[in-house]
Formats: sequence, C-alpha cells, structure tokens
Amino acid sequence: MSEAKKVVLLGATGSIGESALRVLRAHPHRLQLVGISAHSDAQGLFAIAEEFGVKDLCLSEKVSEVPPAPGNATLRRGPRGLEELAALHEADITLVAVVGSAGLLPTLAAIQGGNDVILANKEALVVGGKFVMEAAREAGVRILPADSEHNAVFQCLQGVPEHDVDRIILTASGGPFREFSLEQMASVTSEEALAHPNWSMGPKITVDSATMANKGLELIEAHWLFGLPAERLDVVIHPPSLVHSLVRLVDGCVLAQLTPPSMTFALQHALLYPDRASGVDKSLDFSEPLDLSFAPPDLQRFPCLRLAREAMQTEGIAPTVFNAANEIAVDAFLRNRIGFLDIPAIIEATLNDTQHRDPKNIEEILSADSEARRLAMEKLRD
Ligand code: NDP
Ligand code: MG
Repeated sequence: MSEAKKVVLLGATGSIGESALRVLRAHPHRLQLVGISAHSDAQGLFAIAEEFGVKDLCLSEKVSEVPPAPGNATLRRGPRGLEELAALHEADITLVAVVGSAGLLPTLAAIQGGNDVILANKEALVVGGKFVMEAAREAGVRILPADSEHNAVFQCLQGVPEHDVDRIILTASGGPFREFSLEQMASVTSEEALAHPNWSMGPKITVDSATMANKGLELIEAHWLFGLPAERLDVVIHPPSLVHSLVRLVDGCVLAQLTPPSMTFALQHALLYPDRASGVDKSLDFSEPLDLSFAPPDLQRFPCLRLAREAMQTEGIAPTVFNAANEIAVDAFLRNRIGFLDIPAIIEATLNDTQHRDPKNIEEILSADSEARRLAMEKLRD
C-alpha cells in the first residue's frame, strides 16, 4: 500500500471535525493527521493532538490565557497562524471545516501552498468562489467537496462528460419547520431551530437548515464547483435525507447517491479519493421499507432560499453580502436578540442597501464582506 496521506484538519473541534476524526481513526494506515486547529477550545485541541500525535496546532482566536501545548507541539495563533497551518508544507491535503467566511483565507492559503483541499466549509465558495476556483486552477490543486450534497454530485459525475449533464438537483431535508406556516415560524425559539430532525451539526448550519439559507448557500457552492448556471441548479425537498443529491442527464436519466444521514460517508470519500475502503457507519438497510419522497420547495415560507437564488443570479458581491448578512443575523438569533423571520428580513434589507459591483480581487471581496456586516449590524438595532 502507498504511504499514508498527510492531512491538516481546520476546525478539528467542531461537528465536521469530529466526524473526520472518526474516519481518520478507522484508517490509520491510509490517513495521517499532521495539523489541527480550533478557534478557542484549547482543551479540545490538545486532547486531539495527544490522541493523534499531532505536532502542528493552531488556535485561530487570539485568546490571552492558553495552557502550554502538549509535548513539543508548535502552537500557532490567530487568523495568520490558521493560514500558515492551512498551507503546511508537509501536508498533502487540507480539510477546511471551520464555520463561516473565516474559511475563505485559509482555503486560499492551502491552495497557494500547493495542498489539495477538501471543503466542508461552503461559505468560502459562496463568498469568494471565483477567486478560489481560479487559484486552484492556477496552482493545479484539487478541490474535493465534503458537503454531502456536493460530494454526492461529484460521485454521480464520475465518468460523465460535461455536455451530458442537464441539471443538478440538490436535496434538502426541509429542516424542523418544513411544515410550519409563516405565523408559526414567527415565534419559534433558537432551541426549536437547533433541533434538526436528521443531522447533528454545529449551531450556525443548523439554523441555516431551519431557514433553508443552507440550501441557498449550497446552490452557490454548486455553481462554483460544477460550473453550471443558476437556471440549471434546482432544489428538491427530501425529508428523510437518504438521497444526497441528483444529477439529471440530457437523455432524462437521473443519477443519485444514497447513504444514511451521517457526514462520515462524504468525508471518507473525499479523504481517501480516489480509493475506497470500509465505511465507519452502517450503510442503508434495504430489508426495511425506505421513504424516498420528494416535493418542491416553498419559496414563500422559506425566503432565504429565494434571496440566495437572487443573489446567485445577480452575481458580483451579492453572494458575499447574502452570506455576511446571514452570519450576522444567525448569530443575533442564536443570542435571542431577533426573531426567526428577522433573519431573511435582515438579509433582504442588507442586499437592498448594497451598491452592487463586480469584485476585481480578494481585497474587494473582504471589504464587501465587512461593509455588509456593518450594514446588517445596523439593521439589528432598527
Ligand atoms: P461547528 O460550529 O461544529 O465547528 C466549527 C469549527 O470551527 C470548530 O472547530 C471551531 O472551533 C472552529 N471555528 C469557529 N469559529 C471560527 C473562526 N472564526 N475561525 C476559525 N475557526 C473557527 O461547525 P460544523 O462542523 O457544523 O460546520 C463547519 C463547516 O462545515 C461549516 O461551514 C458548515 O456549513 C459545513 N458543513 C457542516 C456540516 C455538518 O454536518 N456539521 C455538513 C455540511 C457542511 P472551537 O471549537 O474552538 O469554537
Ligand atoms: Mg449540505
């Protein structure tokens, strides 16, 4: 067998981090963890470092009091430290599993450092997709999707020529409020939004799933990963989360990828690609009846999905602004400062107040991101 792939895992203490560690534990001869980051959870980071014998660490939040790193490990600090770790020379592949647009710069750093990238973080592509994809092409590195829908599409597309693809159809569970009226949604609490029926995930993406902003972000992510225009990207509601997405070909045949709802399948696929090995979770059991129902989404009850699609069609900085306003609004909702339906209202108002333009470089993306955050913060106070 060839040498183990050397992996840097950014966001090791999160929900994706935890699933990725389960895959790494199961395949010690194929995968070796060489770098890990957390934002502020020093204890969690050091425990992982000890278990896997990792020597390159980073705490991306500059907290003042940190206990000493275990053994002779190097502890980097702050966002710059995270970029350095992302580009770790010794690594073959960098798995970006931090949350939010904080994923953008380390993703670019990993690419520029010549590491292949596995993206769980979708915000990097939503915010700066054009520049991330360009950088990857220039550096000749591979971007593999770990988001379950995009990983499913990637798998379905193996061996399919580009001109044979008609549409990509992303599946969505519909979240905990799939059948709620707008009146009911007006009074839901953050606890209710955090109780996802199928997936156990970090708080931000769980709220994004409840508003369906997550599926909107994923449409934009799919646009950059697979190069299809907005009108050839669809969303379908599939409550059991067994079919992770669909690809319809020009002849009408539809390809799908199915697993139970666990992120280890997509993560293992991306980590071992192009090889395969036994999975860490049980596959589907066809001796039991399986529900494979599909229904169209309701854009009226889920305005975040409509707003994301509009931002995707507007292009330029609109997706960056959508994402920034969403991050601010979700954070405020999680702190019980605003209601659930204020999330789309803040996104829409921020998009309306933005002077739309085409960003020429990553600096213009970063300034659009901060301007949108400032605008969205003002709306919180309105
Ligand atoms: P979590 O909130 O569970 O974990 C986030 C991780 O990133 C933690 O390690 C956290 O460190 C770190 N982190 C938090 N803020 C920052 C920051 N500003 N800069 C750098 N690192 C930071 O998130 P998830 O694992 O759920 O999600 C991670 C990404 O993967 C998101 O982009 C999400 O959309 C995507 N994704 C997640 C799925 C899931 O099933 N969870 C499915 C598909 C995609 P600390 O612990 O110290 O706070
Ligand atoms: Mg997803």
